Amino acid sequence: MNELLVASRNRGKIKEIEALLDGLVESVICSEDVDAFPDTVEDGATFEENALKKAREASAFTGKPALADDSGLMVDALDGRPGVQSARFAGECAGDEANNALLLEELHGIGPDKRQASFICVLAYVTPEGVERTFSGRVDGRILDAFKGSGGFGYDPLFLVDGFDRTMAELKLEEKNGISHRAQAFRQFRDYLKGKYI
Ligand code: IMP
Repeated sequence: MNELLVASRNRGKIKEIEALLDGLVESVICSEDVDAFPDTVEDGATFEENALKKAREASAFTGKPALADDSGLMVDALDGRPGVQSARFAGECAGDEANNALLLEELHGIGPDKRQASFICVLAYVTPEGVERTFSGRVDGRILDAFKGSGGFGYDPLFLVDGFDRTMAELKLEEKNGISHRAQAFRQFRDYLKGKYI
């Protein structure tokens, strides 16, 4: 495939996505590369609704095939929160630090065996010709009560990955991209594109 627009301004995510698309797309363009690229209002109730909305708007604005992901953390003890609000958990302009601090506060006093959580990712692919497809992935783990590791982004330093003795932030980029929610959704997207173009 020649050109794909990735609708995201999140640098941590874009870095992972570029590695996940390696060899599949000749040229990856991001929202930041497009003048006056409009921000989508992420007001959907599900990851799927938000991902589709972002991809539809990006494809309509640029006239190119667009890929958008909506992802986040669902914590069992918080009834699935922060969920679709993961990026804005501590407020509209909150960064990773404030979001992580609020997560620790909300889980204060909750024991290690009740801190199960999952990262979820839904990818939406939309083309100007009207193709609309979604792909999803999930990885399970547990929220720690202190930070560990310096890689990744977002909630990674608090997320102990099931089956590993390390947090997402302690995994190398290649390791995270081998198991992550985003990687699983991308594997399906790669298979879909391969079926279409190769
Ligand atoms: P989005 O940009 O609306 O999809 O928001 C995703 C938010 O979910 C990010 O800002 C992070 O807070 C969180 N998130 C999603 N994927 C990851 C991940 O791989 N590691 C850590 N946090 C993540």
